This record gives sequence, structure tokens and C-alpha cells, in this order.
Amino acid sequence: MRLSKHDLFQMDDEWLKKLPAELLLEVSKRLLHDVKELQDRLNQNPGNSSRPPSTKAPWEKAPDPAVGNGAPTESGAGEAAAETAEGSAPAQETTPPVTERPSPRKGSGKPPGKQLGSQGHGRTQKLAVTDRCAHRPESCAACGAVLAEDAESQAYTAWDEVDIAPPVEGRIGLMFSVTRHTLLEGRCACGHVSRAMPWRAPPDAQWEKVELGEWRLVGPRLAGVIVLLALRMRLSRASIRELLREVFDLSLSTGVIDETIREAGRASFPLEDALVADIVQAAQLHVDETSWSESGVLLWLWALVSTSTVLYLIGPRTREMLENALQDGYTGILISDGYVVYRNWENRLRCWPHLMRKLRGLAESSDGRVSRVGQEMEAILTALMAGIYAARLDPPPQALPEIYAAEVKRLQHLCEVHQTDQHPALRSVVREFLHDWKVILRPLAEPLLPLSNNAAEQALRHWVIARYISHGTRSEEGSRAFALLASVIETCRRRSQRALQLGIGE
Ligand SMILES: [Zn+2]
Repeated sequence: MRLSKHDLFQMDDEWLKKLPAELLLEVSKRLLHDVKELQDRLNQNPGNSSRPPSTKAPWEKAPDPAVGNGAPTESGAGEAAAETAEGSAPAQETTPPVTERPSPRKGSGKPPGKQLGSQGHGRTQKLAVTDRCAHRPESCAACGAVLAEDAESQAYTAWDEVDIAPPVEGRIGLMFSVTRHTLLEGRCACGHVSRAMPWRAPPDAQWEKVELGEWRLVGPRLAGVIVLLALRMRLSRASIRELLREVFDLSLSTGVIDETIREAGRASFPLEDALVADIVQAAQLHVDETSWSESGVLLWLWALVSTSTVLYLIGPRTREMLENALQDGYTGILISDGYVVYRNWENRLRCWPHLMRKLRGLAESSDGRVSRVGQEMEAILTALMAGIYAARLDPPPQALPEIYAAEVKRLQHLCEVHQTDQHPALRSVVREFLHDWKVILRPLAEPLLPLSNNAAEQALRHWVIARYISHGTRSEEGSRAFALLASVIETCRRRSQRALQLGIGE
């Protein structure tokens, strides 16, 4: 970990002069490491890094350390922590030690977001601490010496974590715990005072706006419940806030709830590779997509469904999107509707109910000629479907393409004579049949293959309703978190496993 401002503050000529030679070497190595890293960072620009041109320098967009990641102060729990933290740390020392973000944002001089001590929504909640956890520095930040367990140390800051306590065997209901995490500082023999730092996930370009770390108000089990309420129960942030307050007397702001969901998304990110690996190996894969809004931009929510895994993705409606998801490595059978991005896959099936709906549309046309063609094609497809279902139960001695040779020939004839028809709907449907002829008729030769894309359509249904309630997502990170959490939840359901296991915890 890099030297913090607190560490550098203590390092001066006088201190260096007193250090023995071997410690001086150790300290120099650390300083050199930091200088090199900072030099590289200074040199970073959109031309030589993944940093998008619009990205501000990290210290310009950083949440101010004084409000941490927003969590402790928003509930008032942070104030409680500051008041009662052990040791007599001066006021400015109670700020969370966020080493990545050295200086406050320029501008008004005030940190962004809610000001310390400002009135929250409703009452400020004082939480009774049920558990305590002290974090002591393991080694000296300057010379690297291991600090003894029993060395003298004192608290310099603290935060409270609210979580659901592990369930008690034979009892129903939820109990909450409030853990006071205290960060300690201790003096090394070299004279340097080192501080325990809360763990933080290293920066990740894909999750630029989602901080993940130990310093948070909401613990993992409570976070799991919030995710379940938001995604599976489709509750808005405001409804979740209301529920927690009404049922559990717990006040969380909608900001904290939103942050918790995005953090859970980032925390689930390592699972994405496992889900993709599973999808790519599936013998059959159902794919469907539906429109999705990301802060007003039209995108698509894709569902990739195998027998044991569901993977959702939010992105453009392009072939690249699907190819990237499948890492160009999918060799199984793809089951889809007639959308053009799927046409590249040779090994593919079409959803028959989808085609039947189109033929029904023709059959119901007010144009008598179009209606008659639609009805005839519909009747042929219905007969073929019946043959396929019957063959699954009791395979006939002769292959279905032979049994139904006349029907197939008639269907093909109907398509061919109408492919330049003046009626646009009829022309379009028969052309679709001709274009995908082999793919559409494949189940006749292999009757055990699925005829419908119901699995993918069903996998999207729940989230279509969620879309109406939430109007989509509001940021790239929000979309990524949503798709990942939905994938995890739906995959658990498909495997008949509980997505939320309070007994196991993190
Ligand atoms: Zn030391």
C-alpha cells in the first residue's frame, strides 16, 4: 500500500537522520516505489491509458474523504462512531483514511454530497453497537518492521457496519447487528506511527464509479436482502427505504441503497467468467433480447439461457455484442427468433411459435388472398408440429421428412410463388421462410430438438416488468451491476438454489 499523507507528514530530515542504515534502505525502497508510481500516474493521459478523454483527474472527481463513501454519515451512524470512538482523536482525525484520494475537490471548498452534521432525511438514527472489531496495523508503513500484537496502540477513527445477524437454529425472524470497526494506530521502534487502513478494492476501469471496500455502512447479508428486494421483488429504492424503516426501524437513505446494489454488482463481477464459461459449453442456448433504457439511451437487455445458467447482458443490438459474450467460441445450437444478428450462426434453430404467430397474422388479414395463403401455411406447420410431438413419444419407422415430403414441398412452393408478392407482409414472411429454410425445418429431421424459444422469452419476462417500474438503469455501472445480479439470481433459480443464504454470510 502507498504511503499516506499521514505517513509522509511524520517523515522529515530529523527522523531520517536518526534511522539506522538498514532501515534507511527499507524506507528508501518504499519512497522510490511511490515516486515511480506517481510519475507514471502523472504521465497518464487518454492517449496512453484506458482513461476515457472525459475522465477527470482522480482527485477532481473523488468523493471527499471527510464523507467517506457517503455511507456512515448518511445514516447518522458515522456521527455516533465519531462521538464514542476510543481515544481522544482531534476532530479532523476522525475522517476515514482514504489514501487513494489525497486532496478535496476544487471548487466551493466543500466536499460533494451531504455535509457532515447536516440534517438527514427524517430523524438521525442512533444505533446501539452490538459487536466490536479492532483493526491494528500489522507492520510499519515506513520501515516495514512487524508491529507486535501487544504494542501500544490507539484508535484514530471508526465506522459502524449494520448487518443481519446469522440466524439462530430453530428461530424465525431477523436480528440486526451493529459492528463498531475501530482503526488503530501504533508507534514503531523507528519512531513512525502507522495506521491500520480499511481494505479497498484496487481501481478497475470497468467500475470507475463504484467503490468497493471494507468501510461501508451496509454489511454483506443486509446487502443481499437489499439486492433481492430491488431485483427479484422489483422494489424501487424508495420502497426499499420505506420497507426497512417500517418493518425493521432501520433508516437508510436511497443513496446508500443504490450504492449498496452497485457495490454488490461489482462484488459479483468475478462470477461473470464462470457464467460465461458455463454458457459457452451448453449444447443448446436460447437467446432473446428486449429493449432497455440506460439514462435515456436505447439499449438491449439480452438473455442467454442454457439448462443450468442464465446470463443477462445490457448493450447494443449488434452481432458483435453476442459474439463478444460468447467469445466467438460457441459451437452448440443457438435457438432464436428471426432477428438478423443470429443469421450468422449455421448451427441454429428457429422458434416455431414465433413463426406461427406471423402466419396467424397473415391468416387474419382482411385481404382474402393473403388470408388463404396464411391459413394454408399455418395448417402445414401445425401438421408438422403434431408429427414432431408424436415422433418424440413414439418414433415412427420412417423419417419425418419422408412422411411429410408432400407438405414440405407444398410449403416451399407457397413461399416461392409469393416471394415477389405485392402484399408487403406476405412477401416478408415467405422470404423469411426461404432465407432460413434449413434452419426452420431442421426439427423435422431431428424431432428431439426444441421447437420454441420459451426459455429465453420467459427469462426476460420478469425484467420487462422491472423495466416498466424502474425505467431502466441510469449509468453504465448501474447496467453492469443490474445484469450481473440478475444473472446470479436467475441462475440460482434455475438450479433450484437460494440466491440469498443468510446463514452462510459473505
Ligand atoms: Zn518503523
